[in-house]
Amino acid sequence: MRTLPQSARRQLDEAYAFSTVTPHLADGRTIETVVMHYDATSRSRARTTICVSSQVGCPIGCSFCATGRSGFDRNLSEAEIVDQFLMASRKLADAQRSLTNVVFMGMGEPLNNYAAVVGAIRRWAAPDTLNFSPRRVTISTIGLVPFIERLSAESLPVNLAISLHAPDDELRSSMIPVNRKYPIAAIVGAARAHAERTGRRTSYEYVLLQGVNDSPEQARRLAGLVKHRLSHVNLIPMNPVEGSPLAPPSKHRSQAFQSVLQAAGISTTIRATRGLDIDAACGQLRARQPQTVLTPA
Ligand code: SF4
Repeated sequence: MRTLPQSARRQLDEAYAFSTVTPHLADGRTIETVVMHYDATSRSRARTTICVSSQVGCPIGCSFCATGRSGFDRNLSEAEIVDQFLMASRKLADAQRSLTNVVFMGMGEPLNNYAAVVGAIRRWAAPDTLNFSPRRVTISTIGLVPFIERLSAESLPVNLAISLHAPDDELRSSMIPVNRKYPIAAIVGAARAHAERTGRRTSYEYVLLQGVNDSPEQARRLAGLVKHRLSHVNLIPMNPVEGSPLAPPSKHRSQAFQSVLQAAGISTTIRATRGLDIDAACGQLRARQPQTVLTPA
């Protein structure tokens, strides 16, 4: 800003941070932010998606997740969430690319940090800032029912992705302890109401774990649960986590699970996992590299 006097620039520099995240360790805490490029296909345009974090660590403690096993430190501020987007945008500008989508699928349960997450989405969306539509934002949640209901009342047309992962409460509670408080029927009911109210699609995320939740019978039960308008199921063969006894099923078994859902009329995809080669798939970065990645300043 060379149009300002040097003294004013110095004052600004002392009083404000240009960015609240840096690629280097500052306060000893780390988060993960991942940018994924998707080439155009016959059915969709090329996309560049950023996967952002909402918390340092996560308090939910899902049994299959590296982030969950490392515990919870603190919520991110609204600025720290906003800045993950800005920092990625600056880096992409060098390659003449821009972000097309945001997913809250990095570290943390976004609805557990509700005010900062909704504040960041509104800030990205403001016409005098980035004008980035909430329709291009997806909040991935384990299913905190009161916050899904609050979100629906906000007139904020974001997409919801519900981390379901099991077709019955007994199994889901063993994987995701908070299911005892918010059981599957209540979560699907709230998600369905959000879809009806906003016209936005609900994705049900289902991590496929060999011998745990990947049988044809479990696929049939899942189909019975999630059949509603604007519903979609994303099957995600598990990312291997070092030291975990859990493993992904074979490709054949994953496809058999998908076939059962499709036969029941449910739109279903098997997600191509991004970042396995660099250990940057969901829940993996921090377990491997606690001292790098983006760091709240
Ligand atoms: S899967 Fe999501 S909600 Fe569960 S522990 Fe990991 S980050 Fe938290």
